[in-house]
Amino acid sequence: MRRISIFGATGSIGQNTIDLIARAPDAYNVVALTGAGNIAQLAQDARRLGADIAVTAHDHLLDDLREALHGSGIDCAAGTDAIREAATRPVDWVMSAIVGAAGLAPGIEALKQGATLALANKESLVCAGSLMLHTAQAHGAAILPVDSEHSAVFQALIGEDMAAVERIIITASGGAFRDWPLEKLADATLEQASSHPNWDMGQRITIDSASMFNKAMEVIETREYFGIYPSQIEVLVHPQSMIHALVGFNDGALMAHIGPPDMRHAIGFALHHPQRRTLPVERLDLAKIGSFEFRAPDEARWPALRLAREVMARGGMAGAVFNAAKEVALDGFIDGHLRFPQMAQVVEDTLEQLNSDNNVIDATMTLDNVAQVDHLARQAAKAVIKKRAG
Ligand code: NDP
Ligand code: MG
Repeated sequence: MRRISIFGATGSIGQNTIDLIARAPDAYNVVALTGAGNIAQLAQDARRLGADIAVTAHDHLLDDLREALHGSGIDCAAGTDAIREAATRPVDWVMSAIVGAAGLAPGIEALKQGATLALANKESLVCAGSLMLHTAQAHGAAILPVDSEHSAVFQALIGEDMAAVERIIITASGGAFRDWPLEKLADATLEQASSHPNWDMGQRITIDSASMFNKAMEVIETREYFGIYPSQIEVLVHPQSMIHALVGFNDGALMAHIGPPDMRHAIGFALHHPQRRTLPVERLDLAKIGSFEFRAPDEARWPALRLAREVMARGGMAGAVFNAAKEVALDGFIDGHLRFPQMAQVVEDTLEQLNSDNNVIDATMTLDNVAQVDHLARQAAKAVIKKRAG
């Protein structure tokens, strides 16, 4: 039996992972499940899968969790440290699907135990790519991408020589506002931004898809994970979300990965790697689809893409600043303090402020230093928002 833990079990990726695991209950021994606010789901899944421990990120919900698991014999814990502690429990495979920078520390902990880390939490690579990769290497742990584009690239590269790779193209649906007139974006509501044309995902990544902050993060993720130059990474708008990525080789060949927009493919690939197993996803009928559409990305509509290039050019811990500022700006939009296009302006202003501070950006990349940069960037981004409001 494979021992597995799922961090962010109650979220969209977590639930899709559980959907796959629950189909073969005898194959897995579930050690830890974690969530945050959704105690009912966490407890229900912990009971159903017979987990050893369930952890909520919120201290004040510990009693609720205890009550929901009463009589089950399942351990309960709460708080950020408890989540990190749960990641030290020995397992073979870990799903990293917490949303935001909060996913970094448990991911690092899991790598230190030598577990295979199925990485949905792209923020880990954006904030601390080299730390993640070095930790994996030092402890003989593997990181398998779960983001659909990166899983696609990973699959297109199997058996290939990285030296023959000229470019990596990741596709973007364009999100909710792909076809909106630019001047209307300032009036975009939370509800409109929270509805994705193709993918059913958590609210934060759905809004990030509309702003392309998600794609900007994925460009950085591509650079970190596959170790290629920023100039070799392209973004292509592909409204149907069926081609997830393409790899261009030095002989002119483009290897594309095509599949339905269903995260259970990438999750299942990471779960069963190095094998391929039957997965419960739709089989595409290409004749019925008829044609695929592509467009060049418009940086006036999606300034986040330009900011990602600036972050990669700056290097060091600029990614941690970028992510933290983006998380604060996203909170600002969700809370109604920022209009949709102002998110990018807040991130740009925050980067401008902190990127010139060499002590911050060029500090050694340790977990503590990343946390400190994250904190500084959040403070700076909040100040930028306050100034704009004032
Ligand atoms: P969701 O918002 O659906 O789920 C997030 C999960 O993290 C939930 O389990 C939530 O708990 C938990 N959580 C929230 N805040 C904290 C915190 N501070 N500490 C610990 N746990 C917390 O997100 P998604 O599943 O959509 O995304 C998860 C990650 O995967 C993100 O990094 C995203 O970018 C990435 N990803 C997602 C894709 C998708 O299709 N959804 C595709 C590719 C990547 P609770 O719900 O109980 O509050
Ligand atoms: Mg993706």
